[in-house]
Amino acid sequence: MTRKTTPSTDLTVAVLAGDGIGPEITAATRKVLSVAAAKFGFGIGYNELPAGFAALKAHGTTFPQDTLAKAAEADGILLGPVSHNDYPPREKGGINPSGALRIGLDLYANIRPAHTRPGLLSMSGKRIDLVIVRENTEGFYSDRSMYLGPGEFMPTPDIALSVRKVTREASLRIAETAFALARTRRKKVTAVHKANVLRISDGLFLECVRKVARDFQDVEYEERLVDAMAAYLVRDPSEFDVVVTTNMFGDILSDQASEIAGGLGLAASLNAGTDHAMAQAQHGSAPDIAGKDLANPVSLIASGAMLLNWIGMRKDDQRLVAAAAAIDLAIDTVLANPDTRTRDLGGQLGTGAFSDRIAEVIQV
Ligand code: NAD
Repeated sequence: MTRKTTPSTDLTVAVLAGDGIGPEITAATRKVLSVAAAKFGFGIGYNELPAGFAALKAHGTTFPQDTLAKAAEADGILLGPVSHNDYPPREKGGINPSGALRIGLDLYANIRPAHTRPGLLSMSGKRIDLVIVRENTEGFYSDRSMYLGPGEFMPTPDIALSVRKVTREASLRIAETAFALARTRRKKVTAVHKANVLRISDGLFLECVRKVARDFQDVEYEERLVDAMAAYLVRDPSEFDVVVTTNMFGDILSDQASEIAGGLGLAASLNAGTDHAMAQAQHGSAPDIAGKDLANPVSLIASGAMLLNWIGMRKDDQRLVAAAAAIDLAIDTVLANPDTRTRDLGGQLGTGAFSDRIAEVIQV
């Protein structure tokens, strides 16, 4: 049902534009979200918060403390990709905003769908429609595993060590997220691990997933080793529905799955916790194409739709759920025409013109 635009601001979305292509694709996403909101009768107010290199210049840090507090006040967060590989060390202000928000707001589930869009073939020519549910708050990430100090250190100049954290609590809750999601889809969960060598840490992870699997008897459950999984994804991704795994395996496999599904420029994701959620493209800041109007904004626009859907379900507001579905449908419609794709998909449109086209389709 379409309603008239209301002038009121029903939602506040915190926006951290990020680095590289971040400002271009966050602008495109804001435009599309606002058009969808107007069509379905609600308003979105945006609160721009400092983060990334712009914040380093203005505030001496890539993630000012106030940014976390302000982000926590919003109904949802939109984070553009950040160039954290190029940030100075932490003591000189280099903090990864993505990690800081995931930990600071306990965004424990990184939901990363990969599915072929109409008219775009997957690499193998086979259908792919899966969701990788990646644990987001621990694992091998050195900014996430310790209370004090990083999870990487050097006992001597020639030895480097990394701590990998896997907890029962985080493993249980990510497994519960995956099984609950599978119930709304094709009812199959694949746990990906390396417990043949990481016997204790991935052993604990698997123990937890198996425990949750017993509570979801209606959902098919299987396990795959991560190295074999990389091959299975290429060979026949149509085998998989919901894939649950630890942080780093999920990070790597989701980029692979998205590339198989059509390209990183299509790769959406939502970081969700109990009280907060953040839309974030799967890919990085793509410095090679930054500022050239070449970025495909689908990744962040579709992430924004996931955020609207998450807020809508939480607030039981069908206008938001309908707006999210309309955005996703508009993406399919525009991508189905080879003439209205972005350059990474063989089309001619720039970031701005492509998002204008999506907005036009939503308004029809
Ligand atoms: P990347 O994901 O930025 O780029 C990989 C390739 O994909 C590049 O060829 C790039 O042009 C292309 N690409 C990515 N997004 C695209 C889009 N929307 N449209 C079209 N093409 C797109 O990986 P990278 O170059 O290894 O990393 C660049 C920076 O991003 C690094 O500083 C890295 O640390 C950071 N990074 C950030 C995040 C994040 O913010 N979540 C994630 C990964 C990497």
